[in-house]
Amino acid sequence: MTNTEYDPELSPSRDAPAIDGEQVIHRIVARMADVGGIPVARSLPSRQRRTIGAWCFLDHAGPAVFKGDSRGLHVGPHPHIGLQTFTWMLEGEVLHRDSLGSEQVIRPGQVNLMTAGSGISHTEESVAGETRLHAAQLWIALPYNDRKTAPRFDHYPYLPQWEEQGAKMTLLVGRFRDHNAQTLAFSPLVGVDLQLETGGEVTLPLRGDYEYGVLPLEGEIRFDDEAFGVDELAYLGAGRGEVAFTAQPGSRALLVGGEPLREDILIWWNFVGHNKSEIAEAQADWESGDARFGRITGFDGPSLVAPPLPWSVLMGDEPKTD
Ligand code: MN
Repeated sequence: MTNTEYDPELSPSRDAPAIDGEQVIHRIVARMADVGGIPVARSLPSRQRRTIGAWCFLDHAGPAVFKGDSRGLHVGPHPHIGLQTFTWMLEGEVLHRDSLGSEQVIRPGQVNLMTAGSGISHTEESVAGETRLHAAQLWIALPYNDRKTAPRFDHYPYLPQWEEQGAKMTLLVGRFRDHNAQTLAFSPLVGVDLQLETGGEVTLPLRGDYEYGVLPLEGEIRFDDEAFGVDELAYLGAGRGEVAFTAQPGSRALLVGGEPLREDILIWWNFVGHNKSEIAEAQADWESGDARFGRITGFDGPSLVAPPLPWSVLMGDEPKTD
């Protein structure tokens, strides 16, 4: 999807260090944004926290039911650099097209992963006749050494699934217990979907060197006496060997984690960069229709226009990144 929030200037990743999570849980309440006509709840980046591991953007779209002549999600051509867009579908079907020629419908239970690297553009639209949308879309920052990797698109129709403690678990990326997802990752990270139909207590093993967050997508999760409802991200910090919680029946949650980022990144519009020049160059290349971002065929609608940069650009003069 696309980031329409470019007012809060640049978003440096420099968070307070990952909290020692022994007993502390931070509550991050998502704010509402609009993406391609769909209201989304954005948990990352937030004022309190920019990243969890390399996860640098966390949108929860829907659940939405399209009424009248709404065509649902309809996001025109727009570019990305320096990141992977990661889409996890819960309800509805969305068609992805990109400048590599990919054309892929994503259905519930599947992951679409677009590695932007040096540059790619894409569109996302609800398939014809679709009336629902419920999805999570996340961005993963690429490490400095991989930031200019060749763009690619991967679709994962089947992911590791198992049941434990009354929960249906799906491993979206990384390793968890003895499960291993094939999802392409450039840094140590993990993502797990938990369906907690019957609710109850769950205890999950965690890695001490990862920081984690749990985002309820449906229902409610309780850590000790603290309740977290839908779109209230529980930031668990690092240094935990496990986490225990109680879920209300009918709950669903996303567990995301990873090694805390050691690099500063800048997020601006749909770009992740390691300095302002990278972002300025990408903006100029998109504006001028440079071949870097290719062409998309088959989408009905105009390309998105990059907003003006929030700082004055003197190309060749490397501005400070902070
Ligand atoms: Mn996008």
